[in-house]
Amino acid sequence: MEIKDILGKDKVTLSFEVFPPKQTSNSMEVEKAAYGVAELKPSYMSVTYGAGGSTRSNTLRIAQKIQDTYGITTIAHLTCVGATKESINSALKDLREAGVSNILALRGDKPRDFQGEPFVDYHYASELVEDIKRFGGFCVGGACYPEGHTDSVNKREDIANLKKKVDAGCEFLTTQMFFDNNIFYNFLFKAREAGITVPVIPGIMPITRANQVANAVSLSGCNVPERFKSIVDRFGDNPKAMQQAGIAYATDQIIDLIANGINNIHVYSMNKPEVAKGIMDNLSEIIK
Ligand code: FAD
Repeated sequence: MEIKDILGKDKVTLSFEVFPPKQTSNSMEVEKAAYGVAELKPSYMSVTYGAGGSTRSNTLRIAQKIQDTYGITTIAHLTCVGATKESINSALKDLREAGVSNILALRGDKPRDFQGEPFVDYHYASELVEDIKRFGGFCVGGACYPEGHTDSVNKREDIANLKKKVDAGCEFLTTQMFFDNNIFYNFLFKAREAGITVPVIPGIMPITRANQVANAVSLSGCNVPERFKSIVDRFGDNPKAMQQAGIAYATDQIIDLIANGINNIHVYSMNKPEVAKGIMDNLSEIIK
């Protein structure tokens, strides 16, 4: 099934993101946890792509298995940093053969150990979107950044670039994490004003360990509200309490979004079935 059809229904959807084990590690634990999330039967699941394509075959295998074994539609992430037209063509053929018909098309970032020029055949995700649409047979999504992408000069330019990505064929957008819903509402208003009419799905990251906050901020540069800082200060040293508080904070964000008419929510569940379940249980009457 295509994600755009799942989003098009007049119904609240809750989807989860998982990551595959790195190609070099043989981590069955990581993979098992991804299937643990699938057992919760979310609306659909996304499977990330390791830096520079380092998890290509694992991403494909896990996305295919979630569909075939658990009957849940998946969306495979695909990046174009360091890729050639040929390597993308071959990745698209593999996805088609595996029956994965949704792709989150991303530029990606230069991997730490990458030698040489990473952006040769592709410079931006919009070029990847164009090639996937030309290849045909895929529903294509893209990423967006309510607080602006870290490479951008300003948010206005970032939204103008986002419009180019949508014009290239992107059918929906999933946001970077944010911890203050007002930032999302403001971004959505500006995106609509710029003529971006596709669904914009808020990406919610439940922070369940204190050290995740620093990682989240350094990766995305996102703003951490005082209210959230107090939670980390008070519960950061108590893992069980921190997990409970993180699930409650994410739930609170999701309820506020749904109450304000946002029907499609994506959760960065990070291969933690217990966290994904905690959120689902909290919303059991809301997402029936
Ligand atoms: P783009 O859309 O290409 O934007 C990148 C920058 O270029 C922005 O600053 C934009 O304003 C600018 N830009 C775009 N088009 C133009 C143009 N025509 N002219 C000038 N400037 C332009 N990374 C992974 O490696 N694997 C993953 O699985 C993964 N999943 C992600 C999922 C989500 C929901 C999000 C939000 C991010 C994810 N990322 C992932 C991270 C992503 O790869 C990085 O944030 C990357 O730096 C940007 O990717 P993009 O697709 O948003 O790039």
